Amino acid sequence: MKSPADKAPSLLPLEVAQSSKATMNASTTASTMQAALFYEPNVVRYEETPIPVLEPGELLVRVETALTCGTDVKCYRRGHPVLLKHLPSPFGHEFAGTVAEVFPGEEGRFAVGDRVVSANSAPCYNCYYCGKGQTNLCDHLDLLNGAYAEFIRVPAQIARYNTYHIPDHLPFEVAAFSEPLAVCLHGLAQAHISPGDRVAVMGLGPIGQLMVRAAKLKGAHVTAIARNPHKLALAQNFGLADALVNLHDTPETETIRQNTTPDGRGFDVVIEAIGTPQTWEKAIALVRKGGTVNLFGGCPSGSSIQLDTRRLHYDEIKLVSSFHHTPTHFKAALELLSSLQIDPRPLITDILPMARFEAALQKVEAGDAMKIALKNHGTD
Ligand SMILES: [Zn+2]
Ligand SMILES: [Zn+2]
Repeated sequence: MKSPADKAPSLLPLEVAQSSKATMNASTTASTMQAALFYEPNVVRYEETPIPVLEPGELLVRVETALTCGTDVKCYRRGHPVLLKHLPSPFGHEFAGTVAEVFPGEEGRFAVGDRVVSANSAPCYNCYYCGKGQTNLCDHLDLLNGAYAEFIRVPAQIARYNTYHIPDHLPFEVAAFSEPLAVCLHGLAQAHISPGDRVAVMGLGPIGQLMVRAAKLKGAHVTAIARNPHKLALAQNFGLADALVNLHDTPETETIRQNTTPDGRGFDVVIEAIGTPQTWEKAIALVRKGGTVNLFGGCPSGSSIQLDTRRLHYDEIKLVSSFHHTPTHFKAALELLSSLQIDPRPLITDILPMARFEAALQKVEAGDAMKIALKNHGTD
């Protein structure tokens, strides 16, 4: 017998506009909630904690679906000086939900019962970087954690600049993909992809899969590169990749160039979504003269790579990188999801109750899951 979680992801039930009535009752009567708290690396607990009290401009959102993310796995194991500042810290950052409370007298753009998605940050629009339009590098990026909980307090800056209504037809677990997809759209924008470009995506975790799909939507010819045959198959079926390269069978960069690019010249754009010094070097070796490499995957701090200065100079290789996302890309991501141009549900391999967030992170870490949807309404 297969459990519901074993079903093919494409058969997952649509969670259309679940009633928010019960939600509101819960929020108005209770003063405590269950929430994940991070104490120190490897020590997280799902425990009773006060429901946050709102300050002006803030929203209280009942989390309907939160998604696991590789960043959360790293934070769980190593901690994070920026994301998890004050310990014990709320935890989790990809979510969509229902507005449970608005600061008194501020009902306007948002009302109790509205279905919303919030980014995990918002820029200040006042600093040097915001003035330059590089809002993802804002000096006062207001980062949010706390999605693995019954309720999350959305800070005023995020409520104002990076929270959006979601259409009734859009399931919460799809809307929650706005954040990882926004990261991908920002990464693709950094690489300036044009229709017809030969693009290689190295690494086919959830981000790599979304990269493949989003690059296809931009009209690129996409080669998906990884070791895991299941991930390669997903890149073909979900991402609609044009070509696949199994790094296990074909580790040599010269062979990959010869086999998969015209005249063996290399790719117009290479996106590295693995995050090791070795694969960064391989990505640079795969690009053509005048091409662009986006060193997207974050390597362990303190690591470094070797660069062939001659090639970098004479071949005019452009190396870019990307961090996080901007409100513009978050909105664009939500639009791609709302218009069903990207349906990311094949990437959800399990649905679990919120209380099992730690098991979910362990499953992702072990490579046994892509994305896990954590729900407060049970798993049906
Ligand atoms: Zn994430
Ligand atoms: Zn700023």
